[in-house]
Amino acid sequence: MSKRYFTEWEGKQLDQIFSIARELVEDPSYPTVAAWRADGGKVLGHFQVYFPEELAHAAGMLPVKIRGAQTEGMESESLFGSYLCSIIKTSLDIALTKNIELDLFVSHPICDAARNLAAIWGRNFDYKSQILYLPQNANSRHAVEYLSNEYRRLLRDIEAATKVKVTDEALRASIGLYNKSRALMRELYALRREQPWLLSGDECLILISLAGFLRREEFNGLLETLLPMIRSRSKRAQDKMRVVFEGGFCEVPPIDLLQTVSRSCYVVDDDLFIGLRFIVEDVTEKADPVTDLAEAYLEKSSYSPVQHDLRKPKEKMLLERVTMANAEAVILASAKMCEPGLDEQVAYAKALDEEKIPYFISEFEENQNTFDHLAIQLETFVENIMFD
Ligand code: SF4
Repeated sequence: MSKRYFTEWEGKQLDQIFSIARELVEDPSYPTVAAWRADGGKVLGHFQVYFPEELAHAAGMLPVKIRGAQTEGMESESLFGSYLCSIIKTSLDIALTKNIELDLFVSHPICDAARNLAAIWGRNFDYKSQILYLPQNANSRHAVEYLSNEYRRLLRDIEAATKVKVTDEALRASIGLYNKSRALMRELYALRREQPWLLSGDECLILISLAGFLRREEFNGLLETLLPMIRSRSKRAQDKMRVVFEGGFCEVPPIDLLQTVSRSCYVVDDDLFIGLRFIVEDVTEKADPVTDLAEAYLEKSSYSPVQHDLRKPKEKMLLERVTMANAEAVILASAKMCEPGLDEQVAYAKALDEEKIPYFISEFEENQNTFDHLAIQLETFVENIMFD
């Protein structure tokens, strides 16, 4: 087995593992990524939400999800206007302060802020900064061909950064590894839907966050070890309300926020790091591997406010998530200043009203550190429903 970069958890009890993993997830200096780079490895940083990491992995690169950090964002402050979500500023900030060093950066035009990020990033570093244009119209019959061509364009940049020619064989192997990874994550989410007392919302967020920056081989090994440990936890079910947490598709709420929610409710499903779990079935071999990946993004995927597909109205998808998770209520959260998130909140609220599903509206910021107010409001919300 090749070198592992996160070993501190090995041989520890589950509760200790969560606490060690949390420290790593919240460390803005990405020590495992730095160690990989110190060993001569190349790193591709991709901004939220979805990125086909298999393309980078097949070239031997480490794909890292750029998803902000709990920093002040001071270094990047002067490069942006004031009315922006936090993740944009702190993502650039950790790169400017050399907390994370990359060999290629990719953003997506999911909103104006993310589109502009690529140009600002490009002006500040000597490696390439690219935009991956995922199809605006997922329903066009040309969408798969268009997206395959986009992926091939990006592959040329990956090959230039690594000086490795990506073969179909290598890409197939990476797809296989990621299929396994997504299956493990689905297993984790199924376990939480079925027995939410065994895995809290914050613990699940910690584990999924690791997939964003650990080598995927390592992440799979970690999850394979932890899943049976979680299943055999001696925790009893409590009389808590089952909720879906929706609104963390891009900027990620602090782990403490999920911990606060988990104190009064069982979080039975969520859209946190949905990009890492966006493809919901195995990518199977139909055409060449690039086309197969493109097809999976369009035909076998989840939903988020930044993918527009008439076959998957977001409201309907949220209601499906609620039904599948047997949830009694929804926490409709949104990052501050996030236009796509706030827009979708209105449509979600209307759909939930029509179905008479209670919901709790909330805003968050990644470096928020007080949750007392939220805890009180949430308790009142839960009591109103449970004792109605
Ligand atoms: S949090 Fe919202 S506004 Fe900010 S980059 Fe993400 S999608 Fe765009």
